[in-house]
Amino acid sequence: MKRTTRLIHAGRPDDDDGLVNPSVQRASTLLARSSEALYAPAKRPFHYARGGLSPQAELRDALADLYGADHVALASSGLAAVALALRLAVEGPGEALISDSVYGPVRYFCDEELPRLGVTPRYYAPRIGAGIADLLSEETRCVLMESPGSLTFEVQDVPAIADAARRVGAKTVIDDTWSAGLLMNPLELGVDFAAQALTKYVGGHADFLMGSVAARGDDADALARREIRYGLHVSPDDAFLALRGYRTLALRMERSGASGLEIARRLQAHPRVAEVLHPGLEDSPDNTLFRRDFSGAAGCFGVVLKDVSGREAEAMLDRLELIALGFSWGGFESLAMPCDRQLRRPAGSWTADGALIRLAIGLEDVDDLWADIEQALAD
Ligand SMILES: *Cc1c(COP(=O)(O)O)cnc(C)c1O
Repeated sequence: MKRTTRLIHAGRPDDDDGLVNPSVQRASTLLARSSEALYAPAKRPFHYARGGLSPQAELRDALADLYGADHVALASSGLAAVALALRLAVEGPGEALISDSVYGPVRYFCDEELPRLGVTPRYYAPRIGAGIADLLSEETRCVLMESPGSLTFEVQDVPAIADAARRVGAKTVIDDTWSAGLLMNPLELGVDFAAQALTKYVGGHADFLMGSVAARGDDADALARREIRYGLHVSPDDAFLALRGYRTLALRMERSGASGLEIARRLQAHPRVAEVLHPGLEDSPDNTLFRRDFSGAAGCFGVVLKDVSGREAEAMLDRLELIALGFSWGGFESLAMPCDRQLRRPAGSWTADGALIRLAIGLEDVDDLWADIEQALAD
């Protein structure tokens, strides 16, 4: 069956109650009828609620179907999911190769937490492709990718990097939030651990935070064990909302992606715009890899403004009336954000000199969004 069909049917409870959706079961304790039963968890699907009950189990199943994964772990946020994946990927001291384009808080995790494990983070330019081989050695514990990258949206050659890493025995992790596991499947492209912020497109309604990590084979077993050892738990209400968002993921991404691309094209022709950072644009340097590995675009992209200081760009964004300012993206509502204050590229992979803004296009009418952008960019 096609993925769009499976999104509707995966992770449906198969109990006898006839419910389409899992029940939201609020519990910590689960009572047993006897001491014998208390210690015979194999006979009961759940024996304590930390690992989650029906909504969490159905959400894991649905995401496992999306990725073709053997296990999906749920974490309290997207950041926690990437941190968990990295923790699994680095066993023992050495070096971790980190894409210059990773999400800022992930960079802070790498800089502060990896050295405590004896692992030195080393940043590489996201478009390095097979050239990563020059940086890999037997010291390399893991390679972290994010594609397209945060703020600057470079597409990475995921199969080439995964292949090169495998040759030296390094694990690979990707932050897959932009494609939500739907527009690209990193596990199919050879990545060991695919982490995403369900907070964004899967949630889709800006009302909770959650993250997931997907893996196959031995990595999936290791992931499942770590999830238990660390006592990870997400609330049943949030798992229910994530599964509800999952049902309409394809539909929302299609609309958000199409409107985003339309606005990206209109912006390309705008006199205040130096460059639109969107891999779906035909003249993007990332378009070839994008067309090879992705089935469509998300609605989030960057815009470099021409002859505009960071301060002037912020004043323009302040003039937006329909589009609100906010971190995060992937919800039904369009958001904008000035990026210069948080843009860091330790490997020097960012050289544009105009102010950078980010647009996350939601589900509003595209002409209404464009009218708002046009009036904000006008003098
Ligand atoms: C938002 C985001 C995260 C973090 O997700 P949270 O749920 O907010 O912690 C991680 N990676 C990327 C690419 C993101 O955009």
